[in-house]
Amino acid sequence: MGIGELGLPKAVFLDRDGVINPPVGLDEFGGTESPLRFEDFQIFPWTAKAIKILNGFGFYVFVVTNQPAVAKEKMSLQELENMHFHLTYWVREAGGIIDKIYACLHHPDPKQVKIPALLTECDCRKPKPGMLFQAAKEFGIDLQKSWMIGDTWKDIRAGQAAGCRTILVRNETDNRGKTIKPDFEAENLLEAAEIILWEENNQ
Ligand SMILES: [Mg+2]
Ligand SMILES: [Zn+2]
Repeated sequence: MGIGELGLPKAVFLDRDGVINPPVGLDEFGGTESPLRFEDFQIFPWTAKAIKILNGFGFYVFVVTNQPAVAKEKMSLQELENMHFHLTYWVREAGGIIDKIYACLHHPDPKQVKIPALLTECDCRKPKPGMLFQAAKEFGIDLQKSWMIGDTWKDIRAGQAAGCRTILVRNETDNRGKTIKPDFEAENLLEAAEIILWEENNQ
């Protein structure tokens, strides 16, 4: 590839719960329940390897995660930051790089939110694409050449709204009743990374 063909950098956006780490259960709507304590936070055995593969192909890797438990005071910001510090560290120890973690701490329901400053109908909570746009602005990312990987309809909608190609990771998350058309489906993050490499090599 000549230098003239290089263009803007591309990225892979990763949802966190159910993609990078196992959820701790399912909520009443069939959605994944996020770990609320650092002791309950561990990454899948293949997470670092998958991220390393994506790094090696020249992708920026960002995590984009909804964590409204902070607004609801079910989890402190310090606890969340501790999880993300260790996530970055564990991946780096295995040779992978997470370029930045974006977390939406907001929630729009006044009945559930305990921290007034986080009560808002924000632009970052997926299915809105705000976190992807933010990363694109900060890092100069070409979203059309980028990918979103997630396990819920919200991730797929956010990725599509940002103009990215999307991969749905199939797990126990209940997406029934939501019409989503991801470009691909995968068993886990490693398979999703392999799909991206195959597509990049064969486009
Ligand atoms: Mg998820
Ligand atoms: Zn938000």
